[in-house]
Amino acid sequence: MALPRREWLKTVVTAAVGAVGFPLLDHAHAQTRPSDAKTVRPLALKDYEPKSMLHVPETHVPRSRFSNIDFHTHLSWIDRKGKVDVVRHTATPAEILKVMDAKNIRIMINLTGGYGPLLEETIRHWQQPHPDRFIVFTEPWYAKITMPNYAKFQGEQIEAAKKAGARGLKILKTLGLYLRENVTTGSLVKVDDKRFDEMWEAAGSLDMPVAIHVSDPEAFFRPTDRFNERYEELSAHPDWSFHGKDYPSNAELQEARNRVMQRHPRTKFVCLHTADSENLPYVSECLDRYPNMYVDIAARIGELGRQPRMTRKFFDKYQDRILFATDATPHGDETPQQIFGNELYEIYYRFLETEDEYFDYAPAPVPPQGRWRIYGIGLPGEILKKVYYENAARLLGL
Ligand SMILES: [Zn+2]
Repeated sequence: MALPRREWLKTVVTAAVGAVGFPLLDHAHAQTRPSDAKTVRPLALKDYEPKSMLHVPETHVPRSRFSNIDFHTHLSWIDRKGKVDVVRHTATPAEILKVMDAKNIRIMINLTGGYGPLLEETIRHWQQPHPDRFIVFTEPWYAKITMPNYAKFQGEQIEAAKKAGARGLKILKTLGLYLRENVTTGSLVKVDDKRFDEMWEAAGSLDMPVAIHVSDPEAFFRPTDRFNERYEELSAHPDWSFHGKDYPSNAELQEARNRVMQRHPRTKFVCLHTADSENLPYVSECLDRYPNMYVDIAARIGELGRQPRMTRKFFDKYQDRILFATDATPHGDETPQQIFGNELYEIYYRFLETEDEYFDYAPAPVPPQGRWRIYGIGLPGEILKKVYYENAARLLGL
């Protein structure tokens, strides 16, 4: 039996405020009041885990249709231990290979391979025993930036890294957002600082692609308030906010990166996380302007999958310049969208290969990057082949 809306409101209000008014409310009304009206109480956002009631197809994609190269993973990190930097491996090769074989991953690129002797250690752990399965990239030796001849030193380091076995160069958002004139103090060093020119040139002449991440989602540059679509993510990681202080804007970081790509046309730049942008028209503009620019999709299927029609067109147009990548981090529990494992890969495959609707972009009870779900883009075989394997293979000279 439906209750007139006014009556229904009255009962809810009564229940909510616990008032004893409305003496005319009779027994019949009380019985038709929504059963949970008495228990409606504020629910913390963190406890809200709505389950979709949509009845839509759910395709399980256990293996990628073509074998793939995961261009963006973190199998090791450089950590600070007291006053020295050390390598921390996040897993053993055997542990990773098991998932790779099950999920049809031919090669994994460990981007954060470090520099100098640390790089050599990383290569010994991953690449040397399994040269056909793991590839290691090097990173700049930022702590040396105070050296008078840093530009030359850093250029030479790239050559040394290549000799040691590194196949590319990785730039974390350290450059532009953390690195300062005196490493941790002073003003921020700009992405297009001339001291890195020799490094970019060396990477180009040695055929080492540069995997570059310079900014972050636009929401990270806005106040962490009730209007921020990544409020929960920023609350969980307050240090990810680049709002205020002396931080450059998202646009300034991207423009500095663009100037670097323009100044070094022989160097190939893979702009990670779909060029750090949820703004596909802008990314397209950049791809049109800089023929040496590529993108990976790591940790951005949440962005791409919530605008499936625009994304599908983007893949059509730039099918030769988009790389499959996940940002997978073994045991990376703090960032559910990156936890290395079967589930993570199955979500990426489902996004790329199916036309499933409204599913989770990360293996987590609550969407960790923002409360929305995504749609598959159902790429055809010829584009899948390029994105999964061929584009990366070409860049790496495989
Ligand atoms: Zn990453």
